[in-house]
Amino acid sequence: MGQLQVIDVIKHLGGNLIVNQVSFTVEEGEFFVLLGPSGSGKSTLLRLICGLEEIESGQIIVDGRDVSRVPPRERNLGMVFQDYGLYPNMNVYQNIAYGLEARGEKRAVIEERVPAAADRLGLSELLQFNVVDLSGGEQQRVALARAMVKDADAYLYDEPLSNLDPKLRHKARRDIMFVHREKRKPSVYVTHDQAEAFAMGDRIAVMGDGRLQQIGSTEDLIHNPASVFVAGFVGSPPINLIEGDIVTQNDRLHFTRERINLALPDKWKSPLGSYGSQRVVLGIRPDAFAKPGLSDEFEITFDNTIDGKVDFIEPLLGEAVVGLRVSDRINISATLDDSLAEQLIEGESMALGVNPDRILLFDIQTQQAIKPE
Ligand code: ADP
Ligand code: MG
Repeated sequence: MGQLQVIDVIKHLGGNLIVNQVSFTVEEGEFFVLLGPSGSGKSTLLRLICGLEEIESGQIIVDGRDVSRVPPRERNLGMVFQDYGLYPNMNVYQNIAYGLEARGEKRAVIEERVPAAADRLGLSELLQFNVVDLSGGEQQRVALARAMVKDADAYLYDEPLSNLDPKLRHKARRDIMFVHREKRKPSVYVTHDQAEAFAMGDRIAVMGDGRLQQIGSTEDLIHNPASVFVAGFVGSPPINLIEGDIVTQNDRLHFTRERINLALPDKWKSPLGSYGSQRVVLGIRPDAFAKPGLSDEFEITFDNTIDGKVDFIEPLLGEAVVGLRVSDRINISATLDDSLAEQLIEGESMALGVNPDRILLFDIQTQQAIKPE
């Protein structure tokens, strides 16, 4: 009980399959983030959950109650949208109170809850202001307060911070988490911003092309991405993805492509057994590299080194992204310590060691991860 369940939900719009058999369960008190690129179907999925769109097949269960065919108002969900969805001809108080009034809540309840929510979100001084006179951050807090006064069974947020300045966003994140902790209800939060997803989500579901590609922690998505899509979408700077062949050399499996030749740890033997000389996609995160002689995490030998020329050096805080040009077609980016990057010169030769334990491989046909033993 207390869960939000989405079961096998399907939706076409304009003849296209927009939500493709999506299933997930959000536990009571869990903050569940739907992360995906623009156009992947996130908003449509939220609209299906709250009933603004009708599902074609599947089920939406809120706190044990099947609301799949129930009108939006009777689903008892709290919703916060990107454009806030406030009523421009009403003041702050009326906007916060609207949902309660619409469902015929007692006056005494409204008069107690609205000022309390306004107080929590720093809106007490603004109650009589027309919402159109407020800043974006203030309007967003009104939208939050309006969701907060409801005793909803679950809360849904569709990119509520996208229209805010970066500075205000951090404060607004905390406001949302504050409301969430107070309510302890299942919450679904939609964003295309991975930093936001990592900071807020108990679990993150990556959505791509109408499907849930993977559900997991930040750790899972970075270190065990389920597909090329997840590997490529999650992580910054982006992962290096290189197509190549699996070959056997001296009884060991290697990944090869042009001048790249990497020995693979034995844990790949069995899962790659059926691959013969088939092509695969190699994935290496930028932070899985080290300069020869400088890693205490893993040994660097000719078996796990990639040679190239320094293409660019892009300083970050405390580290730098270094581009390694391996060939006309292959460029790699690696994050290295600042002090190391400082010694590099664009155009000069450089070798990088690859941490063998951080190698990821994907089936080129299915684009799904090949799992080591
Ligand atoms: P997201 O929120 O992830 O950016 P949306 O759910 O808004 O994605 O949209 C997913 C896809 O569905 C997009 O390609 C969009 O053009 C399409 N879409 C959304 N609404 C409609 C509609 N009413 N009719 C036809 N296509 C739609
Ligand atoms: Mg959207």
